Amino acid sequence: MRKIPGFFEYRFWRFKRFFAKMYIAECGHVSKIHDEVRAFGRLIKTRVPLKDGKIEYCHACLAKMAIQCAWCKSPIFIGDMITLYSPVSKDFKIPGHAKVYSENPLQLVGCQCSDCTESGADYCGVWVPPGKVERFPSALEIAAITGQPVIVIHYH
Ligand SMILES: [Zn+2]
Ligand SMILES: [Zn+2]
Repeated sequence: MRKIPGFFEYRFWRFKRFFAKMYIAECGHVSKIHDEVRAFGRLIKTRVPLKDGKIEYCHACLAKMAIQCAWCKSPIFIGDMITLYSPVSKDFKIPGHAKVYSENPLQLVGCQCSDCTESGADYCGVWVPPGKVERFPSALEIAAITGQPVIVIHYH
């Protein structure tokens, strides 16, 4: 005879499964490790890093930290690579949605799509919590410092 799990057993299993996957993130909200982040009309799936059994930010907080690309308005999510181009035109007006990285010279945070990035060598930072640019030298900057050519892998 086959054992059919009882209703309460099933409910308990569901209960355990539900709570085993929830964490209280340091932002104070309940969060799963894997979830969706929606911002500016785009939905992505994100895995938040688990450090010492803790999550720093829930997905809802990560969604609030997303910004829009200065050039194409595409969402830039936490963890995305960014560019810091300067507008060419002298009478350029900073669009309201744009994130200014530096005023002088004017550098705006741009996304990594092929329309906004001339080459992968221009990636020079990552968008990180709580909503700022973490700079790393771009491939061109490394080449300028070391005098060594840098091979750039293009993702597009
Ligand atoms: Zn949160
Ligand atoms: Zn863009």
